[in-house]
Amino acid sequence: MSQYDVAVIGSGPGGYVAAIRCAQLGLKTAIIEKYANLGGTCLNVGCIPSKALLDSSEHYHNAQHTFEIHGIELQNLKVNLKQMIDRKRDVVKQNTEGVSFLMKKNKIDVHTGVGSFLSNTKIQITNGKESKEIEAKYSIIATGSKPSSLPGITIDKKRIITSTEALELQEIPKHLIIIGGGVIGLELGSVYARLGAKVSVVEYTDSLIPTMDRALGKELQKVLKKEGFEFFFNHKVTGASAKGKAVTVTAEDPKGAPVEFKGDYCLVAVGRRPYTDGLGLDKAGVQMEDRGRIAVNDHLQTNVPNIYAIGDVVRGAMLAHKAEEEGVMVAEILAGQKPHINYNLIPGVVYTWPEVAGVGLTEEQLKEAGRKYNVGKFPFLASGRARASMDTAGFVKVLADASTDEILGVHMIGPRAADMIAEAVVAMEYRASAEDIGRISHAHPTYTEALKEAALAATGNRSLHL
Ligand code: FAD
Ligand code: NAD
Repeated sequence: MSQYDVAVIGSGPGGYVAAIRCAQLGLKTAIIEKYANLGGTCLNVGCIPSKALLDSSEHYHNAQHTFEIHGIELQNLKVNLKQMIDRKRDVVKQNTEGVSFLMKKNKIDVHTGVGSFLSNTKIQITNGKESKEIEAKYSIIATGSKPSSLPGITIDKKRIITSTEALELQEIPKHLIIIGGGVIGLELGSVYARLGAKVSVVEYTDSLIPTMDRALGKELQKVLKKEGFEFFFNHKVTGASAKGKAVTVTAEDPKGAPVEFKGDYCLVAVGRRPYTDGLGLDKAGVQMEDRGRIAVNDHLQTNVPNIYAIGDVVRGAMLAHKAEEEGVMVAEILAGQKPHINYNLIPGVVYTWPEVAGVGLTEEQLKEAGRKYNVGKFPFLASGRARASMDTAGFVKVLADASTDEILGVHMIGPRAADMIAEAVVAMEYRASAEDIGRISHAHPTYTEALKEAALAATGNRSLHL
């Protein structure tokens, strides 16, 4: 039986990064993945393929709507969906092969099959061909998550689909009904709206991306409406059914009256649930908490001292970069170090266009905590760079402590917000004041000048270009 210092179960961004860091720290490491392709949800059916389709569909949208204004004329523009999906598959392949390369480079043993605990140190690995056992001093569970559904809805994977099927459609829906106005609904809704589908979003709460600063969802709603989205807020979905090529979604409107939506595809995007099926947690004695998550302490250690858990399968945001940080943290703990994650500074991003990004506390959270703060806001409409690229929708908002000027939150919607938020994360990690950012030189013309201007606005209305 092969013996390891560490066995990692699951090869998503949590698991494969944990394995690399363990190997870097001199621990003999194995990774167990049930699928032949490494990379988990993120690389195979999540972050990477969705961004590939978002980029392709955005090129088409721009070719259709803005090229002419730039002085570029096209004829016979059309979408080749098969080619778009093939390119996406190729991008996925390059990334998953990249992870396999990294495993080899770091001398990590890859075991393909379902990993199931036999005890707290023994793991059985089973695939169609064989079953074997390995032994590990420590284990890291990184088994991720799967799409959730709602009572009364059976996902048939043909007409009533999850994000996984939405990344592989053979045709552009005529009318895509999306249950859930969160990240997946808006990203994948954007893909198909840009390609010509009518998109209706049925959302339970009163706003889009309800967990982010409220101003972001409001602005995004305005932009997406112009792209042809329709929104139904405060609607409680009660069922969905498919008959032939038609789907019907039933819901209760804000007054509780029944309503029906008819389309040809229904994307269920109401969140994801932690995945622990077949893991044999009972044999290892690992305890769960509510909502199917594995219970962990502040060091990501389960109740069984030599077993840790990270990523989507434990509490916190279901984000690839959160899973990665946790993978590094556990590896370093196992090597005797004392790492720390500042969960308040894990940024959240939505890859619509304009992109949406936020870090730190939202205005709603500050109000609820009764904390005094200053707000500085700068619209992209006033940015020279944004005018040059015709990306003038959106703004940057900086929230700073009223007495110390420390930046408490940065929330933005605009061009390249996904990349720009990194500056805010660095600033907040070093506990910068809004004035610090206002006094740092930002290259001109760049979108990042909007962050500087918003920071200046937060320190006594000193914005220079507004
Ligand atoms: P996962 O990536 O889910 O990996 C878990 C792995 O464990 C899987 O490969 C699974 O097969 C394997 N596994 C499970 N059980 C076993 C077992 N018993 N034995 C062996 N292997 C097992 N996040 C972002 O930060 N940015 C984005 O842009 C983004 N876009 C997304 C888009 C979509 C459509 C979706 C669905 C998700 C997106 N996410 C995004 C979320 C992100 O994918 C997850 O947060 C991330 O993948 C979680 O990583 P993980 O390592 O915890 O688990
Ligand atoms: P989500 O939590 O972002 O959004 C789910 C939405 O569905 C919410 O707005 C919620 O109010 C709504 N909802 C719940 N029940 C409903 C009902 N009965 N009727 C109508 N609406 C209902 O979840 P998601 O969009 O499915 O994404 C799942 C996870 O994947 C998220 O945690 C997210 O962090 C991650 N993800 C991240 C990215 C990214 O970082 N860019 C992209 C995609 C997914």
